[in-house]
Amino acid sequence: MQLIFEKSCEGRSCSMMPSCDVPVCEIPASLKRESAPKLPQMAEVDISRHYTELMKRTHGVNDGFYPLGSCTMKYNPKINDEMANLAGFAGLHPLQPVHTVQGALEALSVLESYLDEITGMDAMTFQPAAGAHGEFTGLLMIKAYHKANGDLKRNKIIVPDTAHGTNPASCTMAGFKVISIPSNEDGCVDLDKLRSVVGEDTAGLMLTNPNTVGIFDKNILEITKIIHEAGGLNYYDGANLNAVMGIVRPGDMGFDVIHLNLHKTFSTPHGGGGPGAGVVGCKNILAPFLPLYHTVKSGEGYEMEAPAQSIGSVRSFYGNYGIAIRALCYVMTLGKEGIPEASSNAVLNANYMRVNLQDEFDIAFNNICMHEFVISLTRTKKDKGVTALDFAKALLDYGVHPPTMYFPLIVDEALMVEPTETESKDTLDEVVRIFKEILKNANENPEALHEAPHTTPVSRLDEVKAAREPVLRYEY
Ligand SMILES: *Cc1c(COP(=O)(O)O)cnc(C)c1O
Repeated sequence: MQLIFEKSCEGRSCSMMPSCDVPVCEIPASLKRESAPKLPQMAEVDISRHYTELMKRTHGVNDGFYPLGSCTMKYNPKINDEMANLAGFAGLHPLQPVHTVQGALEALSVLESYLDEITGMDAMTFQPAAGAHGEFTGLLMIKAYHKANGDLKRNKIIVPDTAHGTNPASCTMAGFKVISIPSNEDGCVDLDKLRSVVGEDTAGLMLTNPNTVGIFDKNILEITKIIHEAGGLNYYDGANLNAVMGIVRPGDMGFDVIHLNLHKTFSTPHGGGGPGAGVVGCKNILAPFLPLYHTVKSGEGYEMEAPAQSIGSVRSFYGNYGIAIRALCYVMTLGKEGIPEASSNAVLNANYMRVNLQDEFDIAFNNICMHEFVISLTRTKKDKGVTALDFAKALLDYGVHPPTMYFPLIVDEALMVEPTETESKDTLDEVVRIFKEILKNANENPEALHEAPHTTPVSRLDEVKAAREPVLRYEY
C-alpha cells in the first residue's frame, strides 16, 4: 500500500474557498514561512479511500473477537460516541468562563458521584490521560500525604510480582523504591512475605484485584489491614474493573486511592495509543491532595476548586473530557442493575471459555477466574517447538485478535485471554473450536505454525527493530 505522501499529486485539493469579500491584509514577512509545507495534495475521494484502505488493514472489535487480556477490548455502544460529539460538549473551549459551561461541569460532577458509588471512594479527578498517568497521580498523592504528616522516611511501595508493568514504573517515576513480593501457589499475595517486608519505611501497597492471572485475592481485607497497621496506604489498580463493578468496591476492600481506565471498562474505544482517561478516586483523607482543579457544587451551580494541599496539575484543564461523557452515558444506560450484570457476564464468559479449553490446554492457576484467565503453552513449546508467539500469529489467520502474550511474567509462554461480556456464546464456541484446531495443527505440523500468519497484509514483523528504530517520519 502506498503512503499518503506517495499518492500526493501536485495541484489536487479538496477545499473550495469562497472568494474573498473583505480587504486583503498582507501577513508580515516575519510571520511567514519561507517555503510551503510539504503536505500531501489529494482529492477528497482519494483521501477517503486512503483511510478506508488503512482501516481494512487493522483489526478492531468491529472486525471480530479481540480477547486481549488486561485490556478489555469490548464493544462500545455507538450512542456514547454520539453523545460525546454533541456540540454542547465537543465545541467547548477549556478557557471559557465557568458560568458558560455549567452543564459540562454538572456532567463531570454527576459522573464523579456515580464512580464514587461504584468504587467506594469519596472524590475523584478526571485529569489523568491514561491508567499509568493515573497511577503516577495517585502515588504523588500518597507521597504528599506522608510528607504532610512529616513522615518522610516512607519511601517504599510494595508491589506483587503479578502487577502490571506500569505499576513498578509509576512507583519509580514518583520517586519511590519498589519492593516486589512473590505470589503463592494460588497466584495470590503471600501474606507471610508481605508481613516480612512492611515497616516504618512502607509508603504503601499497589495491588490489582482481581490480579493479572484473573484471580480475586480472598485475603484482600487482611492484606490492606497489614499495610494500614504499618502506617501505609493502599493503592488499587482498577484499570480492569470489568469483573467487579457493581459487585464489590475497592473502597470496601480497604483501598485509599484508585485509578479506573474509563477507556477499558467504561465505553471508550481504545488501542493504537489513545485517547484514554485514567481517573483517580480517593478517600477523604487524600482528597486535599487531588490535582487542580476539582469540580464542586456551589449553591445552584458548579465551580472549579483548588484542593487545599493539591499536588498541582498533571495535565491541562479537565482531562480527556469526551471520554468522561462516554462513561457517563454508559453508566446511566446500564444503571444499577446493568452494571453488575455486565460484570457477571464478563466473569461467566471467561469461565465458560476456560472450562471448555482446560482439557486440552494448561491453564495457569486453574480455578474459578474473574474476567480473564491465562493459558501456558510451555508444554507445546517443549514438545513441538511451538511458542505462544506462534500460536498468537496463527490466530490471525482465523480473524481472531491474539490474546495478550508473555504476560503476566510469572507464567511461561503465557496467553492471557479476556473474552469480555459483549461476546455471544456462539462466538465463544467458535473461538474455542479455533483454539483447539490450532493446538492440533501445532502437534501434527509444528513447522507450519512458525510461518503464520498467511492471510494478513504483513506477516512476521521485526518487533524489536520496530521498537528500537521506529520510522515515524516520511523522508522526501
Ligand atoms: C491497562 C492497564 C494499566 C495501564 O493503563 P494505560 O491506560 O495503558 O496506561 C495499568 N494496570 C493494569 C492492570 C492494566 O490492565
